[in-house]
Amino acid sequence: MQRRILVIEDEEDLAELLALHLRDVCQEVKVTGDGAQGLAIAESGDYDLIILDLMLPGMPGLDVCRRLRAQPRYTPILMLSARSSEIDRVLGLELGADDYLTKPFSLMELNARVKAIFRRLEALAVDAPALGSVGVGELHIEVEKRRVTFKGRPIELTRREFELLLHFCRHPGRVYTRAQLLDTVWGYGHAGYEHTVNSHINRLRAKIEEDPAHPCYILTVWGVGYRFTDGAVEAQRC
Ligand code: CA
Repeated sequence: MQRRILVIEDEEDLAELLALHLRDVCQEVKVTGDGAQGLAIAESGDYDLIILDLMLPGMPGLDVCRRLRAQPRYTPILMLSARSSEIDRVLGLELGADDYLTKPFSLMELNARVKAIFRRLEALAVDAPALGSVGVGELHIEVEKRRVTFKGRPIELTRREFELLLHFCRHPGRVYTRAQLLDTVWGYGHAGYEHTVNSHINRLRAKIEEDPAHPCYILTVWGVGYRFTDGAVEAQRC
């Protein structure tokens, strides 16, 4: 498969090393050391992955990430940072980065992350055409248009909220632990961030549940995790 990667990294030695190494897993690597320039290149080109440093001249990495995620086109982002504080990592993921590597990292680790992101992309591409729309109860999802309606009203969801809801809708009645949801919806490398799942579920419930305190769609399975309604028992109660 033809893959193109954009590397936005101002440490020249590292950028060069990344470019050299990444040519093994993709056809084209473009490198820039400036945040604003990187954003412009990302906007004008069709990339399969953006490797984005946090501390950059021109525009900070978090701002580049925020700007990219405000656009309809979705390109996976792998963030790099010399900082290891949890707050940066959480902020990066909340802003829509797909994964995160703290410097220094090994090329093997980078390789594993990049391959995991590409695997998820392929899985999404395989899933998508088979599912024009999914509906449970009064909830309706048009997959390609990424449009969600509840009782006929459009619901605004972030990309991650949408993917979480879509995953639930595709597997009604099945119980998932927070770790499983992290692994499937957020992907490899997010172990230990189960609270991120909770906060996304709370936001989803606020948007799709009539009474978020007594949910009918995303149900809590105490001591285990969550289960999406299979439409039977809960529908009578709601
Ligand atoms: Ca830097």
